[in-house]
Amino acid sequence: MSDFVIPAPPQPYVLVAGGGKFPVRRIFCVGRNYAEHAREMGHDPDREPPFFFSKPADALVIGGASTPYPKHTADLHHEIELVVAIGIGGADIPPAEALSHVWGYAAGIDLTRRDLQAAAKKAGRPWDMAKGFDHSAPIGELAPASRIGHPAAGHIAFTVNGTLRQEGDIAQMIWPVADAIAYLSGFFELAPGDLIFTGTPAGVSAVVRGDRLEGTIDGVGTVATTIA
Ligand code: MN
Repeated sequence: MSDFVIPAPPQPYVLVAGGGKFPVRRIFCVGRNYAEHAREMGHDPDREPPFFFSKPADALVIGGASTPYPKHTADLHHEIELVVAIGIGGADIPPAEALSHVWGYAAGIDLTRRDLQAAAKKAGRPWDMAKGFDHSAPIGELAPASRIGHPAAGHIAFTVNGTLRQEGDIAQMIWPVADAIAYLSGFFELAPGDLIFTGTPAGVSAVVRGDRLEGTIDGVGTVATTIA
């Protein structure tokens, strides 16, 4: 059937609200896209060009499955984020056309080994070990833009064991979805299946084993996982 010399890896995917699966190719993440979060991380929230990092597609945790507490950290942080799913690829996409490339939106969690990230920043090293580890991207169901449109505003909130930890509005993004797509597509030819985690509002904090994590974005959806 194929010439692959080992079994081909399974196709990562996100569940679609109402049925179906969205196959995932790459996961890009925007850093410091909300001013209050930039400040809480000790940075100036001036509108500098956005920067991105990546997670492997198979870091996704879907269907409300539990998330194992990763090794090599004592400071695992949650970051609730609006996730954009690219349905039509392209390079050098103009901002005015960017939303036409979006298939849908979901709520996702950018789990972060904050202690390893701080060490990487200090040493001038890449963030991969802090951001791109296994099971580092729990994600809720994907809502098609054909049904919900392209939300420019909406309350985004995150609770741990029912206690509010993060709150904001996706309208507060320093680089809105269209601008992030336009900028990113100047560096990568975006392709169907690419996801973009668009950054987190203020209030990030540590979680421990047994914690119940729940996020919601009005007009988009929810995400939930338990740290195991
Ligand atoms: Mn993030």
